[in-house]
Amino acid sequence: MSLFTPGRRWQPPFYPFKKEKFSLRLLEATERIVKGPLFGCRMCGNCLLQETAFICPMECPKGLRNGPCGGSTPEYCYVDKTRPCIWYHIFERSLKMKREEKLMEVLPPLDWDKAGTETWGDVIHQVRKVGTGRFLKSLVSRDRVKRHEIWESVFRPIRQPEWWNGDSEYHPPAYTEPASELEKRLRNGEFVFTVEVIPPLGASASPVRKSVEMVKPYAAAVNFTDNPSATPRMAGMTCCKIASDLGVDSVLQITARDHNRYSLQSKALGAAELGIKNILCITGDNPAIGPGPQGSMEIYDLDSIQMLWILRKMRDEGKYLDGRSIKNKPSFFLGAAASPFASKPEFQAIREHKKINAGAQFLQTNLVFDAAGVEKWLEQLYKRNILDKVYIIVGIAVLKSLNMTLHLKKEIPGVVVPDEIINRIEKAGESAHEEGITIALELIEKISKLKGVNGIHLTTMGNEQIVERIVRESGVNTRK
Ligand code: SF4
Repeated sequence: MSLFTPGRRWQPPFYPFKKEKFSLRLLEATERIVKGPLFGCRMCGNCLLQETAFICPMECPKGLRNGPCGGSTPEYCYVDKTRPCIWYHIFERSLKMKREEKLMEVLPPLDWDKAGTETWGDVIHQVRKVGTGRFLKSLVSRDRVKRHEIWESVFRPIRQPEWWNGDSEYHPPAYTEPASELEKRLRNGEFVFTVEVIPPLGASASPVRKSVEMVKPYAAAVNFTDNPSATPRMAGMTCCKIASDLGVDSVLQITARDHNRYSLQSKALGAAELGIKNILCITGDNPAIGPGPQGSMEIYDLDSIQMLWILRKMRDEGKYLDGRSIKNKPSFFLGAAASPFASKPEFQAIREHKKINAGAQFLQTNLVFDAAGVEKWLEQLYKRNILDKVYIIVGIAVLKSLNMTLHLKKEIPGVVVPDEIINRIEKAGESAHEEGITIALELIEKISKLKGVNGIHLTTMGNEQIVERIVRESGVNTRK
């Protein structure tokens, strides 16, 4: 298998922000000329090639450095359908090369000061530090352990700077009392229903109040989307505060798309102070599927795994990303999105595993329409021995019409709607909504019985009055 991926660079390389010395500029140019054609290198200055089976992850339009987004497919990248999902290829090749364990290390966001600069200088510097002779000898050594040790002493400080220090380990939460009502109910073994409420398009809070009041008796928490489909709406934080004031626990979604390392940390602290403790870290829909004019479809400052890592450390170690101490440590119950039907279940399980290691305590799945597929995905999580480390809340939509069903199938990345469901909705004609309720109830019945599932996340697309009926007719015994 070729280690190289020639002629595969869609986006231009980064160039340094500052003027460097001539010798460094020469090294940069040499690295660009060599690694560009061979690996599609974009000169991010923070090289991860060894961790990504020698395929440069910076081709991902979102700039994800820890794995694919929930819209990953074997066929194409949903942001630009003319190119493959580079992360799908990285996973595929890593498994073939038996480098799967390398995918598990939580890798840092870019140090933008280095973007556009060479990585080779750092390597030379580290080799000198470790000892050039020692390093060269280790390359031909038969002692695998020693070879690995020396290799790591050169490359680990480059890919894992001190301010990040990522690893492949699971870090259990460093607190005992539940951070939120949702966490308390899950810990008590309750089978929960959470409800998605889409924030209003205007500045009035009354639609939020109405929706929250409607679902209050049935929902363990109300989850507010963060500009879904890259379309601006009222801020989720405001909606969460309204829900808290009405006595309902809420889940604040924070997207990597709309945040950077600074706003993530300040927003999370502000949320904690307002009593909003459930935070769902997601990459967010790319502007490619939103209305124009489109915002940047390029690189994000963080990915959802990095967001979890940062928030977990703020909570458990009381540290900002830059290492400063936080005076009053915040408390959070951290969640992440899961996508059982994107790419392959075994690939997705690697991604969910990494999220759990980074700090995810609950996983909220994308909308699912196939209980057997969910079971296959759960089997993969079970094989990775992670089901006891996370609560799983499965996303179920209550379909209202054929148009809505087709929209979910065609436009929403990671959502797979089987033909059987489409046929049922089509055949139902004017009773499509009633059929949608029947489908949701059937799915809940099957999925709630699967081992490892702790709740259902209901998406009603603005039809919250249906929540009461769904919860009542589902017959799910919420106290297990
Ligand atoms: S990870 Fe960065 S330095 Fe390495 S090949 Fe990709 S763009 Fe180049």
